[in-house]
Amino acid sequence: MSWVPAYHQRNLGNLDNLAPNTRAQAMKWYQYCVDNTIDVLIYETIRTVAQQRENMAKGASKTMKSYHLVGQALDFVPIADGKAQWSKSAYSKFPFYAAIQYAEKLGFEAGYRWGWDAPHLQYNYKGYGTDKVRTVAAAAPINVMSKEETLTLQEKLTKLGLDTNGVDGIYGKGTTNAVMILQRRTGLAIDGIAGKNTLAKIDELLKQKSLIGTPGTFRVFIGTFGTPEAAEEAAKKVGFNAFKGENENRVYTGVFTSLESAEEARALIEAEHGYNPKIKSYSA
Ligand SMILES: [Zn+2]
Repeated sequence: MSWVPAYHQRNLGNLDNLAPNTRAQAMKWYQYCVDNTIDVLIYETIRTVAQQRENMAKGASKTMKSYHLVGQALDFVPIADGKAQWSKSAYSKFPFYAAIQYAEKLGFEAGYRWGWDAPHLQYNYKGYGTDKVRTVAAAAPINVMSKEETLTLQEKLTKLGLDTNGVDGIYGKGTTNAVMILQRRTGLAIDGIAGKNTLAKIDELLKQKSLIGTPGTFRVFIGTFGTPEAAEEAAKKVGFNAFKGENENRVYTGVFTSLESAEEARALIEAEHGYNPKIKSYSA
C-alpha cells in the first residue's frame, strides 16, 4: 500500500455527507491531496442550524447562511508529522497552498482568501442551497495505490478471471467493478477499494488457483430500436463503450472479459432503461 493520509477513514466519512455535486468535486480535490501526499484532516462538512448558531455566538462563523448548512462546504486542517497545524501560516506553506490553489481550480472558493477562515472551502454550484440532485457522474472512490501497484492488482484480478477493463495502471470504473465483484463473492465489505483485507484475499485465492470470475469474451445487447436516433441515445446512456450497429438499430456494449462484468453492465442497463438485455458469448 502506498501512502495513506493519517485521517483517511474520517476524511472519507465526512466527504460522504456533502451534497452530491460538491462531493464529486471535493473527492477530486482529496484525490489530488492523496496523489501528492498532502496530508489533511477534513474535520467538518455538513453542519446543523444549532451548530451554526453556536459558532456565531463563539465568533467562529459570521453568517447564518453558511454553505456548511447545505452541504456545500468543507473545513480542513494541514497535518504535519501526524499533528494538526492550525496556524494560518501553515496554509500558506507548500504543499498546502498548492492544495488550496487546486481547490480553486476545481471551482471552490477558499476562505483562505478572506483572511479569517483558512480551513474553509465552499462550492457555489448554481448558488447557495442549489446542490440537491446529482447531475454529475458518481464520485470515483479515492484510490491510494500507485500506478505500479494498480497494475499488479489488475494483473492479479485478471488471473482470477475478472475483467478490469484493461491492465493500464488506472484505478477506474472497470477495476472498481472487478474488486466489488470479488468482495461480494468472498463475503468482504463491498466498497470497491483494494484495502488490506481485499489484497490478502486476492493473494490467498491466487495461491489456491481459484477462479472468482468466469473468463471469456462477452457483449451485452440491448436490442433494437425504432429509430437510429433512439439507438444512439440509448448507446450514449449506457456508458460502457456502447455502440450502435452499423446497418441496424441494435445497440451493444464493448467486450467484457468476464461474465460477471457483463452481468453488472446488463443489470445497470436494465435498471436504467427497463429493457431486458441479452449477454452474448464469443469463443476466443
Ligand atoms: Zn467552513
